[in-house]
Order: sequence, then structure tokens, then C-alpha cells
Amino acid sequence: MNPECPYCGVVQDPPAQRKRKCHDCGQPIHIHREGDRRTLITEQQYEKNLREARKRHQREVKSGFRRELREMQNLALRECVGLGLLVSVSGSG
Ligand SMILES: [Zn+2]
Repeated sequence: MNPECPYCGVVQDPPAQRKRKCHDCGQPIHIHREGDRRTLITEQQYEKNLREARKRHQREVKSGFRRELREMQNLALRECVGLGLLVSVSGSG
């Protein structure tokens, strides 16, 4: 079964392998890969997927950055304490 255009429903023959325009309605068709399965999606869906992927990525980067920052702060704090610049605070955190 060949996939159909997500806009007008015309069967894409030959099946789309990469982004292209529908030969019938001329709308840009994107390929969404999920494992071995390929679905044809509209530009809107594609951009939505892209936005979500980007958001996910940003979240990951941000949480990684926060962790790093925390580690650096801890390290700096320890060094300050070691150098006698700070008095170790007990009982907090
Ligand atoms: Zn079409």
C-alpha cells in the first residue's frame, strides 16, 4: 500500500522517500519515520514535531547545564572553604 498525501489523499506513486511536493495538490509532504514505519505528514505536523523535538532537546541541555553549574558551585565552594575564604556552614542544605 502506497502512502497517501496528507493533504488531498492522493496515493503517492512511487512512494515518497524524502520531502517532496505532492504531484496532485503541490503541497510539501514530509516523511515521519518511526522505526521502520514511514508516515506522510503535512508541513504543519512536521514543524510541530520539530518544535517538540527542539523543546525536548532544550530541556535536556538545560537540566544538564544546571547539574554542571551545581557541580561547579560545589567545587568552588569547597575550594573557598579549603583556602579559608569561607567558613563552612553546617546544618544547611
Ligand atoms: Zn496532495
